[in-house]
Amino acid sequence: MAREHHTKVLILGTGAAGLTAAIYAARANLEPIVIDGLEPGGQMTITTDVENYPGFADVVQGPWLMEQMIEQAGKVGTRFFSDIVMSVDLSRRPFEATGDGGDIYSGDALVIATGAQARWLGLESEQRLRGFGVSACATCDGFFYRGREVAVIGGGNTAVEEALFLTNFATKVSLIHRRDELRAEKILQDRLFANGKIEPVWDSVLEEVLGTDDPPGVTGARVRNVKSGEVSELNVEGIFIAIGHDPNTELFKGQLDMDEDGYIVTAPDSTTTSVPGVFATGDVQDKVYRQAVTAAGTGCMGALDAEHFLAENPAEAEAAE
Ligand code: NAP
Repeated sequence: MAREHHTKVLILGTGAAGLTAAIYAARANLEPIVIDGLEPGGQMTITTDVENYPGFADVVQGPWLMEQMIEQAGKVGTRFFSDIVMSVDLSRRPFEATGDGGDIYSGDALVIATGAQARWLGLESEQRLRGFGVSACATCDGFFYRGREVAVIGGGNTAVEEALFLTNFATKVSLIHRRDELRAEKILQDRLFANGKIEPVWDSVLEEVLGTDDPPGVTGARVRNVKSGEVSELNVEGIFIAIGHDPNTELFKGQLDMDEDGYIVTAPDSTTTSVPGVFATGDVQDKVYRQAVTAAGTGCMGALDAEHFLAENPAEAEAAE
């Protein structure tokens, strides 16, 4: 039977932003409820080595770091619910989120921390063979390519990190990039160029994933050089798409101001959105920095903004006391 759950601060998402918001809101006695959604722990759970999150002299693992954050948020009083939010109503307070089983979660303030998800190229063959050799997560699927050849598409930090990670398993990794210059940080580029197993394929795009349907599997990549027009085929059995992310903001369309890429617009130096009492944190509102540590920082801001908002705009029941 569907149930109702009320809190002062409702938080959607359990990545670094949502969990930091939860820690701060719980320590401010706001008894937050956090709903974890489709990817509990967020994008950090599909990464491996993390060496740029401050506080750890030695490399830590992304999933471990998120487990620690979840435990920390729970210890200070956060209530967690595993549910998929299907709709939200931001037209009045308390704001409401409805889960896929019909449960209703309401909050006097709402902190959105639903993050972002991997982007796909949109090729028919890519979608058909997704999960059968085409992946957006080397950490999740790299293990299956021991002793095989694979390709990674993209030229950013994610693509380079995935290519490096895949050299632990694959015999050869082709990094297919549409330009002749990488966007990734220099330290990662240096590691990439020093790794004999990785071969960059410059100025090239993936035209088609070659594969079989029965049983489903990838047998190659048809690649086109955008300068010469030349088409070639690579003998790879795995293709990892690493071309960036899109914000998970579909739920809020038409209710909050967003930019042309679907990111929620927040006021400068604040997590305030176009609806008073609704705050956006992490990758749903940041397309510039997009780091776990910046997501955590804006999560903290979201909780503090919610706390100030509730102090100035108490819920009706409290105002009447
Ligand atoms: P990104 O920086 O946006 O890079 C996306 C890459 O994919 C770019 O090289 C882009 O090419 C290419 N691309 C985009 N659309 C394409 C298409 N349709 N066809 C072919 N190529 C396409 O995304 P990201 O690498 O996922 O990184 C996202 C954010 O997370 C960044 O801020 C990054 O710094 C951060 N990050 C940090 C770490 C770390 O610090 N360790 C690790 C992972 C990610 P162009 O270069 O030509 O635009």
